[in-house]
Amino acid sequence: MGDYQHHWKDGTPVHLPLGKIVCVGRNYAEHARELNNPVPDEPLLFIKPATAAVHITRPLNCPKDLGAVHFETELAVLIGRPLTHASASEVENAILGYGLALDLTLRDVQSQLKQKGHPWERAKAFDGSCPLSPFVAADKLTKGNLHFTLDIDGQRQQTGETRDMLNPVVPLIAHMSTQFTLLPGDVVLTGTPKGVGPLSTGQTLSLELEDVLFVETTVV
Ligand code: ZN
Repeated sequence: MGDYQHHWKDGTPVHLPLGKIVCVGRNYAEHARELNNPVPDEPLLFIKPATAAVHITRPLNCPKDLGAVHFETELAVLIGRPLTHASASEVENAILGYGLALDLTLRDVQSQLKQKGHPWERAKAFDGSCPLSPFVAADKLTKGNLHFTLDIDGQRQQTGETRDMLNPVVPLIAHMSTQFTLLPGDVVLTGTPKGVGPLSTGQTLSLELEDVLFVETTVV
């Protein structure tokens, strides 16, 4: 932990510090349904600290004694310019790159927190709770629909299409910037499609974004 640094897909470092990871819950209707959650009327936001980030290609070392650790595969957006109360065009100009992330979630802990009406950090913000892939420069990807997948041990588990987001990337980030200033190096996680589930030791996870990014990791 603690030695995370953003990288481009070609292995060169991105010379920006990671400050925070701003996330959205229930941004795909079918995922909200699979956990019996209502679709929120405004984006459900939470933050993971920089200490949550780890390189996704390192073996995933999850808490063992706190119940189920769920994977949530999400499109990650690397922010390149400060954003406060940003317009859509300011957001578009601030998106430096795209990658993939796992929003690792202690699901049993989260259920207990939800019942009590408590914040989610204990379930979402632990060290290592945000494995991040290298990033692909934004201009290398279409501005239209982006497609991403997660396979576990060769079986398709999750398929994401950004056109299915309840809050698409640009308006989502614009909204986030009305609540929290985003700084260069911050990352936005855009929510998970359906198909989440528990990790178990020995699994191999393969994540793919379009045909431009492929990463693999194992659970230890
Ligand atoms: Zn998530």
